[in-house]
Amino acid sequence: MSLISALLRGVEAKLAEVGGKRVRSIRLAVGLLSGAEPDLLESAFAVLSEGTACEGAQLMIRRPPVRVRCGACGAEVELLELSLRCPKCNGFDLELEGGDELFIEEMEVEFGEPQHPGVREDPEGQ
Ligand SMILES: [Zn+2]
Repeated sequence: MSLISALLRGVEAKLAEVGGKRVRSIRLAVGLLSGAEPDLLESAFAVLSEGTACEGAQLMIRRPPVRVRCGACGAEVELLELSLRCPKCNGFDLELEGGDELFIEEMEVEFGEPQHPGVREDPEGQ
């Protein structure tokens, strides 16, 4: 899966940048509308990370909620599962905000010697 290849390249670039040795864990934000399936991401990661600095790293996937504004009743709600109807008035006049997130939220890096803190990466492209 090319998405994971790109992800691994990004992680390795970051790892080189901070002088880390290997990656312990990666947390991904995967929006409901991103088109990426967490299960598929996990299995692709397991295969593609073999032999890289990410081998054996824990992949955590977070699904941020989608914000929805209803044009009919004005409700503003956050949905954890995608729905085409307003949960308040059952209308279809919904405006979606976000949901297409797909980025590394955080990665934990192992350095040559212990006692180094992990590296945090701030979410971008919100
Ligand atoms: Zn509504």
